[in-house]
Amino acid sequence: MIDFSLSEEQKHIQHMAKSFAKEHIRPYASQYDEEEKFPRDILEMAHKKGLTHLMYPKEFGGYGMNDPYIPLILAEELAWGCAGINTVITSSYLPAEAIFALGTREQQERFIPLFCDKENLRIGAMALTEPEAGSNVSSLKTRAVQVGDRYVINGTKKFIGNGGIADLHVVFAKVRDEDEKDTIAPFVVTNQEKKGLSILRKDKKMGIRATHTAEITLENVEVPLENRLSKGKNSREAYKGMLLMLNRTRPLVAAAAVGVAKAAFEYATEYAQNRVQFNKPIIEHQGVAFLLADMAVKIDAARLLTWQACAAGIHKTDNGFEASKAKLFSAETAREVTSNAVQIVGGNGYLRDHPVEKWMRDAKIFEIWEGTSEIQKLNISRYIQKFSSGKDGAHVY
Ligand SMILES: Cc1cc2nc3c(=O)[nH]c(=O)nc-3n(C[C@H](O)[C@H](O)[C@H](O)COP(=O)(O)OP(=O)(O)OC[C@H]3O[C@@H](n4cnc5c(N)ncnc54)[C@H](O)[C@@H]3O)c2cc1C
Repeated sequence: MIDFSLSEEQKHIQHMAKSFAKEHIRPYASQYDEEEKFPRDILEMAHKKGLTHLMYPKEFGGYGMNDPYIPLILAEELAWGCAGINTVITSSYLPAEAIFALGTREQQERFIPLFCDKENLRIGAMALTEPEAGSNVSSLKTRAVQVGDRYVINGTKKFIGNGGIADLHVVFAKVRDEDEKDTIAPFVVTNQEKKGLSILRKDKKMGIRATHTAEITLENVEVPLENRLSKGKNSREAYKGMLLMLNRTRPLVAAAAVGVAKAAFEYATEYAQNRVQFNKPIIEHQGVAFLLADMAVKIDAARLLTWQACAAGIHKTDNGFEASKAKLFSAETAREVTSNAVQIVGGNGYLRDHPVEKWMRDAKIFEIWEGTSEIQKLNISRYIQKFSSGKDGAHVY
């Protein structure tokens, strides 16, 4: 039997994250959005509470909560408070996933504890996208060249969360190995190797404006050989590792999208109960009630797909099909639900006095980052083709 009830540990995290979002995020979210200010004070507080490193192994300084549903529950609740501030708090997860998916045990031991140091907050970044390499990551131009005992990296990275302000950047670059073939490999650039890495421009964004996003340049950035992740893997294996990383991070993005949608749904419901037009609360007009019904169904469906992607990640080596479905549907749900929440709040919803307009702006990002919705559809359709060409015919479940 499938049981969707949360374990005691999961409930505890949900409660802790919800209280943190209520007390420390939601009341300040619009201010950080207006000022486009990086919420370092909130991040420091979240770090002290362990929210930045709950799931990292105890031997690395984390809390050892290795239940893979925990980051999803956490992201949903924090994003309910603010999608941007959630992104800031959980930003080490992306580079950490790269280190877990593609790094050796020795590299994990060296880098993951940086994110778990209670006294010194360290910020992470994952730099894959480039001006000419967005959806098509194989067209990366950033290059790492081995010179003696170092790699020298040159290139430009675009739209990088925490770009230039992070203490640890995982930078993806092309590298030519002994077999004379180009491989895409991730390189860890810590504060020690940061010379030559600088911000070209800080992006001004539509939403998630509490996050820092920047275009960065790497000019002769030198890293020791042992900072290359996926060393010894050929281009095919390295690429597979990168997909594995995305399969793990996409459910996380999906969970945050669910959190934003939930926030908008709750707000619109309360508004509809109190707003009277034509002598009755607007929730009693079927047009509004049906919008809310659709919102409720889609939010639950998005969460279930997200949890399904997580479950598939536990039971299978490749959960790409489920991860893409969850990311696609949750992103579309967040966009639709937040837009309908603005609709229900009417003219007031269009004003900055109500948070729904911010949530609508915030929600759009989920259809773009970590692979656009079109790229998720491409991915899903490739799995369908693969399954349908199997000897048992088309069976996708
Ligand atoms: C706020 C923000 C934060 C980000 N953070 C990071 C980060 O921390 N690290 C990082 O590496 N990247 C980050 N990104 C980059 C993000 O992942 C890319 O923007 C995204 O992958 C899309 O790439 P692109 O913008 O170059 O669009 P393009 O690839 O140019 O796509 C443009 C349009 O064409 C469509 N398209 C492209 N190819 C196809 C195809 N084959 N079939 C159908 N449609 C297609 C796309 O879906 C899209 O609609 C961030 C982006 C933003 C906006």
